[in-house]
Amino acid sequence: MGNSTNKKILVVEDEPEIAQLVTHYLEKEGFRTATALNGFEAIKRVKEDKPDLLVLDLMLPELDGLEVCKRLRSTLDTAMLPIIMLTAKAEESDTIVGLELGADDYVTKPFSPKTLVARIKSLFRRVERASDQKPTSGTYGPLAIDLTRHEVRVHGAEVLLTAKEFGLLEHLLRHPGRVLTREVLLNEVWGYDYYGTTRTVDVHIRRLKVKVPLLNEAIVSVKTLGYKLLDHPPTP
Ligand code: CA
Repeated sequence: MGNSTNKKILVVEDEPEIAQLVTHYLEKEGFRTATALNGFEAIKRVKEDKPDLLVLDLMLPELDGLEVCKRLRSTLDTAMLPIIMLTAKAEESDTIVGLELGADDYVTKPFSPKTLVARIKSLFRRVERASDQKPTSGTYGPLAIDLTRHEVRVHGAEVLLTAKEFGLLEHLLRHPGRVLTREVLLNEVWGYDYYGTTRTVDVHIRRLKVKVPLLNEAIVSVKTLGYKLLDHPPTP
């Protein structure tokens, strides 16, 4: 049971009737809402209003939904912002790109507001569950990671990783299924004051894959953006 009352949702939609319909339903459910009519406004409002979730229309004038998504995911502050994309049936191939670029879910137009609200609530639950758990150990298929002992084992055999390789793996394991940009990984693992280039991330991903062959398939590179750990380990 989430307390929707203090959650703020930014609805980015250039069709005022749809924006109005959506915000009406969200407010009825106790959410706070804000709207943006185009992509540039969306980015500005995200920075200023810090919404808890974004409902993002794909087809927007000037800066479209994909570009908005990409920009938000490339910025550390907003890299983890939950995003639900609104798409039309004819835009299905774009939808797939959208999900690759880091939208968490999508709803196809025309949609019932009830469906959208249900998907929003379910996304909030997913996000809360993920942040509630601060596990000190975890598994990914035959891989087991122990964060307190700084140990990684595959089928029980320890794999020796450098601190950065370990940090990178930890970060990927904490966010399976999400696109993590090189910039975000660099900031999270190496820190803000690190002056390396994003190439550093590529080099370490490659080393990680050599040391843990299971990750060869499990870590996929996403276009020019970055990397994603598959939700579920590939079956051998
Ligand atoms: Ca539109």
